[in-house]
Amino acid sequence: MTLIEHAAALFNLMLTPEHAAQFDQFAMDLADWNQRMNLTAITAPDEVMVKHFLDSLSLVKAIVPQPEQHLLDVGTGAGFPGLPLAMILPGLRVTLMEATAKKLAFIAHLIAEFGLKNADTLHARAEDAGQNPAHREHYDIVTARAVARLPILLEYLLPLTKVGGICIAMKGSTAHTELDDSQKALKVLGGKFQDLIDIQLPGIEDLHTLVVIEKIRPTPTDYPRKAGLPTKTPIG
Ligand code: SAM
Repeated sequence: MTLIEHAAALFNLMLTPEHAAQFDQFAMDLADWNQRMNLTAITAPDEVMVKHFLDSLSLVKAIVPQPEQHLLDVGTGAGFPGLPLAMILPGLRVTLMEATAKKLAFIAHLIAEFGLKNADTLHARAEDAGQNPAHREHYDIVTARAVARLPILLEYLLPLTKVGGICIAMKGSTAHTELDDSQKALKVLGGKFQDLIDIQLPGIEDLHTLVVIEKIRPTPTDYPRKAGLPTKTPIG
């Protein structure tokens, strides 16, 4: 099955042949740039389609589209999950945040190549951006994949989320345990569990799970703590 067929069957997304051509180009550029910098361990085209593109697009299962919505992808790496979403949802504003500048050069190249008007990059660590008034409690949706365990990740994501907005953590089989371990972090940071959404990707045995957290109260100004501290001494 093609990307277009999978996206329709799994997520009810109607991608065009132009989208498919852009995703093909994305996969080619990823393999090409990956020879010069460490962007991903996954470069075989079929694997990129499932583990990077379809996995990223699975976020549509947790997003209720609203006008002027702004999504922040924390620790985006080579652009996952934020860039595929920006490519197919022109009405969604997407900011791709990453601590490593050279990875953002790859993303900036793709944004220019595809002429995306709704995507931009942000070179920052989540702990610093979360204390910056330009970014703190600014985003409607804050997401991340493969960045940290949930109790740590919530200290990155919740300070950046508007009250009334949501965080979506993309997790694997550890989603339930990580959520159990995050009860104190949720309470301290102003979050509330909303939903667990299981995603079955083609050819992948283990379920992927979207952990959806609502931001119900402002985060105390003590959080996020200084860069490195959330990992060193997670809340809880
Ligand atoms: N999200 C991408 C994906 O799933 O393919 C990349 C995952 S990679 C394993 C983790 C990325 O998060 C790295 O590129 C790293 O530089 C970035 N990162 C880790 N901690 C961060 C932080 N505190 N603030 C911003 N980026 C961070």
